[in-house]
Amino acid sequence: MTSSARPLLNRRLAEFGTTIFAEMSALALSTGSINLGQGFPDTDGPEQVREAAVRALRDGRGNQYPPGPGVPELRTAIAGHQRRRYGIELDPDREVLVTAGATEAIAASLLALVEPGDEVVAFEPYYDSYAASIALAGGTRVPVTLRPHAEGGAGFRLDLDELRAAITPRTRLLLINTPHNPTGTVLTRAELTAIAELAVERDLLVVTDEVYEHLTFDDAEHVPLATLPGMRERTVSIGSAGKTFSFTGWKVGWVTSTPELVTAVRSAKQFLTYVSSGPFQYAVAEALALPDSYFAGFRADMTAKRDLLAAGLTDAGFEVFKPAGTYFITTDIRPLDPSGDGFAFCRALPERCGVVAIPNAVFYDDRAAGAPFVRFAFCKRQDVLAEAAARLKSM
Ligand code: PMP
Ligand code: GLN
Repeated sequence: MTSSARPLLNRRLAEFGTTIFAEMSALALSTGSINLGQGFPDTDGPEQVREAAVRALRDGRGNQYPPGPGVPELRTAIAGHQRRRYGIELDPDREVLVTAGATEAIAASLLALVEPGDEVVAFEPYYDSYAASIALAGGTRVPVTLRPHAEGGAGFRLDLDELRAAITPRTRLLLINTPHNPTGTVLTRAELTAIAELAVERDLLVVTDEVYEHLTFDDAEHVPLATLPGMRERTVSIGSAGKTFSFTGWKVGWVTSTPELVTAVRSAKQFLTYVSSGPFQYAVAEALALPDSYFAGFRADMTAKRDLLAAGLTDAGFEVFKPAGTYFITTDIRPLDPSGDGFAFCRALPERCGVVAIPNAVFYDDRAAGAPFVRFAFCKRQDVLAEAAARLKSM
């Protein structure tokens, strides 16, 4: 232990204590509550994908350091997925990089592309690792707040004028997330086109987190930013197997971009983990080649779960912002709790009724703007969601 008065944790990380996910999952365990906080499924993904991992492990594929950019089978499968689904052509050897989950992809991208003092514009509420990764890179985060739509409360939307106003000569990079955690907003093609035009006009790099690309509901369409005019050469796209195949513990993610941008991101990534999870990479390669029926079935299952929890939350008295994508429903607690203090609400919820949720305020710089919003995850078995809804109603 050092005797100096200097804090142990460096200044860049001083504002980041334990993540809300660790805090709330621990609370769920200690109180025996249903955990609708941290977003992970309570059932594993496809049996054949799990078996593919076992096979790789048994066959000794990936048990020693895989190649730095990822195993060729997975890089080829990622390129194949992007071509089949979006018509994006990628060279698997130069334009694809496998990472330890999307979390490492985000950190490596920011560490590679941001100089101290650069401004990074990101939507608020933002996934919590964004703020920490921007800070690690020495960047300055500039939040643009998504606001509940004035007309009819139909979800949270981006104000393009606010986005435009947030860009300064110091802006280096836009950090975009669609489908968006925690609001469930899926940016429309028109919104993304406007973002793309702005990025081209102001010559900005764009990092786009598309980990929920397969989780869109009803008519919502996921449009990868890299497919829009002028974007291929300035966009780093991030994906992850965790959400799409319901194996969040495997931590297999990826970056796709130009050879130059992939090389830059790899320079940072090689000193974070160097490589990760060899056998899982082979299994994810098989998963990405699953037929369209898997992805359609997954979406149908998650749509039913969303509808079940949305109805339960409405019935329990929350205002519900029905999500067009992701694992999450954001609610406004004020009809139930006029104080509108989502933090206090979430800390008390396990004792009150045995359910854990996440206060969206942690995803805001402007905590007041996020105070009344609380996020519930619906990537759980239907009987678990029904029990949670009954508990919330009885509170
Ligand atoms: N981005 C978003 C928007 C997320 O919600 C998450 C967490 N699920 C991640 C990135 C991290 O993904 P991974 O588990 O692949 O690191
Ligand atoms: N992305 C998940 C969520 O938003 C959690 C990931 C994590 O625990 N860091 O719930």
